[in-house]
Amino acid sequence: MAHQGLTDYPRIIASDLIVASFRRSPPTEYVCHATLVTEFNQQPLHTTTMTGDGVARASDSLSKQVNSGYKSLSEASMSAAEKNQFQLQVVPVTQLQQNAMIFWSTETRNAILLDPGGDVDLLMEAIGKLEVTVKEIWLTHGHIDHAGGAAEARRRLDVEIIGPHIDDQFLLDELKPGTYGIAEAESFTPDRYLDDGDTVALDGVQFELLHCPGHSPGSVVFFQKEMAFAFVGDVLFSGSIGRTDLPGGNHQQLIDSITRKLWPLGEKIQFMPGHGPGSTFEQERKSNGFVADSVLGT
Ligand SMILES: [Zn+2]
Ligand SMILES: [Zn+2]
Repeated sequence: MAHQGLTDYPRIIASDLIVASFRRSPPTEYVCHATLVTEFNQQPLHTTTMTGDGVARASDSLSKQVNSGYKSLSEASMSAAEKNQFQLQVVPVTQLQQNAMIFWSTETRNAILLDPGGDVDLLMEAIGKLEVTVKEIWLTHGHIDHAGGAAEARRRLDVEIIGPHIDDQFLLDELKPGTYGIAEAESFTPDRYLDDGDTVALDGVQFELLHCPGHSPGSVVFFQKEMAFAFVGDVLFSGSIGRTDLPGGNHQQLIDSITRKLWPLGEKIQFMPGHGPGSTFEQERKSNGFVADSVLGT
């Protein structure tokens, strides 16, 4: 989960739903525009308070709003969909409000399910409403809020679990029901581990893998070059970085992962983290209290 020092950084405003669409036109060129959905983002619904154990406490009213909002928004995003696009639906799951994501082609309706940490029923409902076919489950790292529901989702969808890096297997081994209220949490072994330089793909759209340890030893980032877009898990957040006090965490390693692996990808890269709203590397290099250029003296 999320934040470094509680007092070091102001509370974040959670963007509960984000719809991003990726247009492919012509075939080798992508435009990615993440639309922060009005209902949830023009006026903050609540502030997510990061507590000592990194748990985001969401109110009951928030969950209701998210659920009702989710329904109307998925319909809105569907009607706006054009052929030959890729879209992203964020479905916050568990009391940690982890950004589980469904990424799909509007042409083939083939999809990836990213980080199904829990609330598998809710994710199945989203998949059904979007009328997509999940081809693979991808995992950024082994923490329960990202991987807790993966085994259950794999059974229900009959697809393979890809990732994270093998160095997070010890975290996957420890997953058990009930932790953080995630009833379906279950230990498992992925069908394939990921490592630096590997690639994964949906309908021929390739994501390159970067092994980015520090938050957890086996954290990976999925980078899509043409769309200039990355799924970064809990490595980097809008305005913060992943916590490093959990087993296998290492602060300097995390800073190195961000500055030596992510920054070289380019300032224009947009990213979606495991919690909270998306951002760009450019924005974080300007204003992130942990890794801005001015903070690191670079
Ligand atoms: Zn997390
Ligand atoms: Zn994590």
